[in-house]
Amino acid sequence: MRRFLPGEELGAALDAAAGFARDGIGSVLTELGEQVTTRAEGSRVRDHYLQVLDRVRQRGLPAQISVKLTHLGLDVDRAACLENVRALAARAADAASFLWIDMEESRYVDVTLELFRRARAAHAGVGVCLQAYLRRTSADLEGLLPLAPAIRLVKGAYNEPPDVAFPKKRDVDERYFTLAGRLLEHAARGQARPVFGTHDLRLIERLRQRAAALGAAPGSYEVHMLYGIRAAEQRALARDGVPVRVLISYGTHWFPWYMRRLAERPANVWFVIRNLV
Ligand SMILES: Cc1cc2nc3c(=O)[nH]c(=O)nc-3n(C[C@H](O)[C@H](O)[C@H](O)COP(=O)(O)OP(=O)(O)OC[C@H]3O[C@@H](n4cnc5c(N)ncnc54)[C@H](O)[C@@H]3O)c2cc1C
Repeated sequence: MRRFLPGEELGAALDAAAGFARDGIGSVLTELGEQVTTRAEGSRVRDHYLQVLDRVRQRGLPAQISVKLTHLGLDVDRAACLENVRALAARAADAASFLWIDMEESRYVDVTLELFRRARAAHAGVGVCLQAYLRRTSADLEGLLPLAPAIRLVKGAYNEPPDVAFPKKRDVDERYFTLAGRLLEHAARGQARPVFGTHDLRLIERLRQRAAALGAAPGSYEVHMLYGIRAAEQRALARDGVPVRVLISYGTHWFPWYMRRLAERPANVWFVIRNLV
């Protein structure tokens, strides 16, 4: 597990964020967990993230947070979940931080985008994740662009049926490049804040060239990667003037999240088996 997490405690994540800050790399903190089944659990998660933002401010860290709506009680009470999101957006603004909303399985996309829009109407410092593997994402992106949004574009991590998501990796990669190009066109005019959440170095290189061709300065977009993946390249990109952040996960509810990380790369499964043996 230590391959992907600095530790289960928030303190370990904050210490890791401080270490990245010394290398000019920002962080995004996320407590592992999803699909809570009571309002009280959603409130606990909200209170936890409020405390995270306070500690980020106290330590002066260049750290943001990223939340899953089902962790904040979406399945239990949609209105309460929206209030939780609003409370976090307000505290993030106080802490000069930023609130990211993760994208979960495809059945949550409509409600996630709706809650994002409602939170964004009151707070500028909120962004949402879009998944390039979904057939619908191009239309979703066009619908959001008039908001001059902060969008974290990822390939997508869940098992989805082929009528919902492109099954072939090659198609997902090309969709990603096209969607990212749309974001960069808007970023060049100061009308979008794209984040490329990927470890695909070839794709990142193509995007940097596309950005330069469109006149989008390196500071007008960011690259975010997961803790423990491509660490040397994270530092190299940062040295090269690309704003980089590392998404640091922590907490005890790591099993579903860890399984998604393993599924992304078969070599990781061998890595785990080797360590077990
Ligand atoms: C900052 C961030 C936020 C994310 N948020 C979400 C979200 O909200 N919703 C969602 O569905 N998905 C999210 N993801 C996951 C994402 O959808 C992909 O599953 C994941 O990033 C792997 O795809 P890739 O773009 O790195 O490209 P890939 O083509 O899968 O990988 C490119 C290369 O990166 C390396 N690599 C990729 N993954 C791993 C791994 N697990 N272990 C070791 N090496 C690896 C390998 O060398 C691989 O060849 C997020 C990813 C990042 C980086």
